[in-house]
Amino acid sequence: MRLRTLAAGVATLALALTACGDSETDLGGGGGTTDSDAYEVVADPSFAAGSTMARLSDAGSIKIGVKFDQPGIGNKNPSTGKPEGFDIEIGKIVAGQLGIAADKIEFVETVSKNREPYIETGKVDMVIASYSITDKRKQIVSFAGPYYVTGQDLLIRKEAASEITGPDSLAGKTVCSVTGSTPLAKIEEDYPQAKTEAYGTYTECVDRLETKSVDAVTTDGSILLGYAAGNPEELQVVGKPFSTEKYGIGLKKDDTAFRGFINDSLQKAYDNGDWKKAFDATLGKGGSEAGEPPALEKY
Ligand code: GLU
Repeated sequence: MRLRTLAAGVATLALALTACGDSETDLGGGGGTTDSDAYEVVADPSFAAGSTMARLSDAGSIKIGVKFDQPGIGNKNPSTGKPEGFDIEIGKIVAGQLGIAADKIEFVETVSKNREPYIETGKVDMVIASYSITDKRKQIVSFAGPYYVTGQDLLIRKEAASEITGPDSLAGKTVCSVTGSTPLAKIEEDYPQAKTEAYGTYTECVDRLETKSVDAVTTDGSILLGYAAGNPEELQVVGKPFSTEKYGIGLKKDDTAFRGFINDSLQKAYDNGDWKKAFDATLGKGGSEAGEPPALEKY
């Protein structure tokens, strides 16, 4: 199942790449969104006393950590000031099952390196921020999901396409990524012939790629496609994913009931078409196809 999803993801990336090359693909400045009543908001849900679900549902609001600068995934729309993207839609779906409407969600910016601390300290109730499920992170937080699978790739300037064809052609090149991310760790561990630079956000890396102070940016293909779509004349994704990144929803470690509740909410969205609706309104706008949602991991 997982392999099939990854294969579908790779095909999707290839499709989207073709779309990027042929025409100007634009994610709409923000990253795509749905109408405010797109998903069910359960009226008066009831939860076990003392549970995280009861606390949030009684409060009528929730804080969700998301990215603010990743088109298609989590991106603050400069004209509305509201975050948009697939992660944001997933947040609305889960909040709706708690009886919380989209306008009662407080989206808080998390960058890659502060996702675990924000969960641990309760600064946010959950994190939905292109957050790969890993065994190392599972020692600090728990994950519901995965709700999406992608793979690490490279974003380059088009003029370098004959030179940089994949991670094996990075010897002596400077590759930019983000502190606290899985792609940075993979490049440092598996491709030590590459030079690395790390910043707090991928936008900082993309700026440096455009001004030619780095040769490539590495992170998940789904994220890189959003940046390529913003500058299709100059940038392109290499299109050879070299890892498996399973996006999960991060929550306090060992809050098993909350984790089960989020997984049930995701399963419901898979079954009733809301997951696909969320995808089509966001990442799908860049030319990717939703495919089958990944199987949830119930550990
Ligand atoms: N999915 C990877 C991670 O969780 C890279 C994307 C990101 O940094 O948000 O580290």
